[in-house]
Amino acid sequence: MKLIADLHIHTIASGHAYSTLEEILAAAAAKGLKIIGTADHGPSMPGGPDLYHFGNLRVLPEEWRGIRLLKGVEANIVDYAGNLDMPETYLKKLDYAMAGIHAICYPGGTVEQNTRAMVRAMENPYVDVIVHPGNPEFPIEAERVLAAARRLEKVIEINNSSLCGSRKGSFANCNRIAHLVAETGAQIIIGSDAHFSADVGRFDDALKMCQAAGVKEEQIINSSEERFWAYLEKRCKQKSLSS
Ligand SMILES: [Zn+2]
Ligand SMILES: [Zn+2]
Repeated sequence: MKLIADLHIHTIASGHAYSTLEEILAAAAAKGLKIIGTADHGPSMPGGPDLYHFGNLRVLPEEWRGIRLLKGVEANIVDYAGNLDMPETYLKKLDYAMAGIHAICYPGGTVEQNTRAMVRAMENPYVDVIVHPGNPEFPIEAERVLAAARRLEKVIEINNSSLCGSRKGSFANCNRIAHLVAETGAQIIIGSDAHFSADVGRFDDALKMCQAAGVKEEQIINSSEERFWAYLEKRCKQKSLSS
């Protein structure tokens, strides 16, 4: 199985990532990826971009060096009500939005509070993906998060970087989530969470774990261009119905 899209990419605009978008696209082309999503951290991340960064993404081309370029964000869930650090007016202008909990932008909570925050964030019509839900620093009731993802027809991410260095101790949680995904037939996306060009399209650990857990290729939306666009088109329709 070869994954063709990586939507979880950070550029120098995130403040703690080290490659330009050009460098990322060159790396993606060299690896044979078809689609790249730029998803810098939301504005409440220290050193992260201002809202202006997201408001001006329209100057970027839709395609560059043969790669389809999507413009997105990894917004921060900032409270237990699942509010994000990006207003709807900005989210509306993006091709997609991912949302996740990050230590410095979220107060920290109980399993109940974290679960509720994630489910509420997913209920935001502009959120397409919930990132790294297996982070042991913010434990959740995975069954409820997956049930909400299925109800709302959204995907959760299995984050490759969580399995090779970031968010230590993630393996057990991510593995459990992967097994639940296999059992329930939920849809997921695998993201590299690259903060440097060499990591763009790096999916190996997450893919290995998902396959061992019995997740089928058709459950992974970035496993084919057809599946990927079908998901984004469906989300696009849902967004237009809610706006
Ligand atoms: Zn980051
Ligand atoms: Zn993140």
